[in-house]
Amino acid sequence: MITQYKNLINGQMISTDSMLDVVNPANEEVIGQVPSCGEAELNEAVAAARAAFPAWSKKSIDERRAVVQAISATIKENSDELFRLLTAEQGKPHAQAQGEIIGASMMAGAQSTLDLDDEINEDSEERLSRTRRVPVGVVGGIVPWNFPVMMAVQKIAPALLSGCTIVLKPSPFTPLTTLRLAELIKDVAPAGVVNILTGEDSLGPLITGHPDIDKITFTGSTATGKKIMEGASKDLKRITLELGGNDASIVLPDANVEKVAEQLFWSSFTNAGQICVAAKRIYIHEDIYDELSAAIAEYAKHVKVGDGAQQGTAVGPIQNKKQYDRVLELVQDAKDNGYKFLVGGDHDPDVPGYYMPITILDNPPEDARIVAEEQFGPVMPLMKFSTEDEVIQRANDSEYGLAGAVWTANPDKGVEIAEKLETGTVWVNEFLHLSPFAPFGGHKQSGFGAEYGKEGLLEFTYPQVITVKKNNVPA
Ligand code: NAD
Repeated sequence: MITQYKNLINGQMISTDSMLDVVNPANEEVIGQVPSCGEAELNEAVAAARAAFPAWSKKSIDERRAVVQAISATIKENSDELFRLLTAEQGKPHAQAQGEIIGASMMAGAQSTLDLDDEINEDSEERLSRTRRVPVGVVGGIVPWNFPVMMAVQKIAPALLSGCTIVLKPSPFTPLTTLRLAELIKDVAPAGVVNILTGEDSLGPLITGHPDIDKITFTGSTATGKKIMEGASKDLKRITLELGGNDASIVLPDANVEKVAEQLFWSSFTNAGQICVAAKRIYIHEDIYDELSAAIAEYAKHVKVGDGAQQGTAVGPIQNKKQYDRVLELVQDAKDNGYKFLVGGDHDPDVPGYYMPITILDNPPEDARIVAEEQFGPVMPLMKFSTEDEVIQRANDSEYGLAGAVWTANPDKGVEIAEKLETGTVWVNEFLHLSPFAPFGGHKQSGFGAEYGKEGLLEFTYPQVITVKKNNVPA
């Protein structure tokens, strides 16, 4: 029997007559059904969030912190059940699913330690001016399918800590673990503070356009981000957009080939390449190109692609059919143009599941679609470069500006290049590390605003400046 999951609205687990199927990408079997919500259910959720807002926002930050910490603890206590469900719906191998669940618990725990202290702007003989932070109100959170639990929690935690209430929509491809989590945290926060409802993509614009939602926090594609910005402009909703990326990694000639080959591989292929900050273009200096590309290709041959629930699987399937078809299209384009493959390229259409073998391309041109577009899948182009100026220009020649990395035996040189990259995050000699205390956000078309850290928390607040003129009391 297929498990039916419910939505969390106003502290109650509710269902709808119409349900959506959720498929396991490893075998294309339906593994669960979730409510297909529309305007009526959204209105209920928003009304609940609105009604809960006055009391919730008036609680002390320490009271709200305790609730965020309780959510963090609930995730950790139930991590075993949650990570297995996450693998079943998302496809990622068990170890990576466990990493996401434990990571979500840690992120919420760490973010809960942040504060919203008042700031003194002026304390002179004439006046006292201070800035306090007030919550924006009801938040609409919209989440993608690549890290569904992490993304949901990284919106819920700061929203609640700041004093906002939230209506959150998971991706229709990966709603199950989030809804199980909703059930587990149902009584942790007061009714209406956290609402989680599912529906098709068409539910998204209803959230963006809802007159009683004050802010949208969105993670997903740049194309959808633009629609959200447009929709939110009608009533000037506050927005935070975490969007796509086409992140460049630059490997300098002094990098130790043996040391970096494996790390470069995982910077691209973790979560089957479906990470906004995955290395999506790797530029290798011509002096070490042949040796390093051969080492990466050799490492790739020993990595098992398969069902994430099976032991030994290191790379799972692509999460959904739409994304699978897009990755296949990019690979076909590379074949049609005669680009050289170091590894992979051919999938077996008769095997159920959205499997793509590890695929690595050998020095395709800069205008190849696989280089110029965000692939978001297990396909990586390696490119040769000659000079620093040239590689910086090529790395920056993108509408995106999310993240990047520099690999070198000389960290100072790495920082010098990092400062010339037009992205929100740059790693020197590591990859994919995000700190709960550092702002994470995209430059250019990779985003608007930031998540994480104090800066991320402040996005859920308005500044209010209160100025008191001294020696002018009209008494
Ligand atoms: P998507 O934009 O298709 O969908 C994301 C969410 O938006 C889903 O919940 C979807 O139902 C909803 N949605 C769809 N159309 C909408 C609309 N018109 N209005 C409002 N909501 C709508 O993205 P995806 O395919 O789920 O995720 C992949 C993309 O997300 C990639 O581009 C990736 O780089 C990006 N991403 C970015 C980050 C980041 O932090 N910058 C993190 C993860 C993923």
